[in-house]
Amino acid sequence: MLDGYKQSQPIVYKILKNAIINDKCSHAYLIETGGFYDSFNFTMAFIKSLLCPQKKLAKENCGNCHQCEVIDSGNFPEIEIIAPDGLWIKKEQLQNLQKEFNTKALIGNKRVYIITKADRLNKSAANSILKFLEEPDNNLVAVLLTDNIYNVLSTIRSRCQVLKLKSSNISKENLTPLQKLKQIALTQNTKIDEEIDNKIEKVINFVNYYEKNHLNTLLYIGKLWNEYIIGKDEYEMAFEIMITYYKDILNYILNKPLEVFEINENIKNIATLNTAEEICQKINKLVELKELIKYNINTSLLMDKLIMSLEGVI
Ligand SMILES: [Zn+2]
Repeated sequence: MLDGYKQSQPIVYKILKNAIINDKCSHAYLIETGGFYDSFNFTMAFIKSLLCPQKKLAKENCGNCHQCEVIDSGNFPEIEIIAPDGLWIKKEQLQNLQKEFNTKALIGNKRVYIITKADRLNKSAANSILKFLEEPDNNLVAVLLTDNIYNVLSTIRSRCQVLKLKSSNISKENLTPLQKLKQIALTQNTKIDEEIDNKIEKVINFVNYYEKNHLNTLLYIGKLWNEYIIGKDEYEMAFEIMITYYKDILNYILNKPLEVFEINENIKNIATLNTAEEICQKINKLVELKELIKYNINTSLLMDKLIMSLEGVI
């Protein structure tokens, strides 16, 4: 809920809240996320409030009407999220968006598109959205996110209302392992729902299980993995989490400080079962297979492949 950010983002909260209540939303926002670790959830909370059919009735934003729930589930047709495909946002991604958004909204009267890394728009891609930004359509709202607004092309910057999020008081060192993992997960992609804590936990459990049971893990992939990790985006996130986990296990073996996790029994156990070199090989294999996810490899086969490859069978 947007109201949940009253304290942590007082200024931006007020600006957006006012705009929503008075129906005076800008057609394009460029939000500098800076050091605010919860920036994506913040953005979604704003969009939810903006689109919520109850927004005028309730004093506080509802966040739990049917529509808000559909938005949470990631299946709301009037919101489109664009993230870099590889290093850059491709021109085709924006052309597809334009095609899709040429028609009127099916639900409500507003459509929103989010560009998660507006600094990854190169000139040709940027040109294709300038028209969107130049000829504002009352029913279309653009929300562009970036770490640093000065990395965004000035042609785009000048056409947006710029908002800067206040960086969190907590420095990176003070984040809990879960908060750090969330940051990692959310930089991988942005379509992950609110159950992200649960998913992160399942991914770690999977690695812990695999380290004890090796090839037998193949029999339990359904229960350990397939029920929780679904679709390309979640696979990419999950692989990044596994890579991060093994990296910290390597740090532990090498007596270096851990970057994300806190030392626990599982990490100690895995460290005694593997040499540093073996962990490095596992990290390499995860990195290799993570690359394949981009190419729409059949994800159900990918996990079999992963386990066999970690075991050195293939
Ligand atoms: Zn609602």
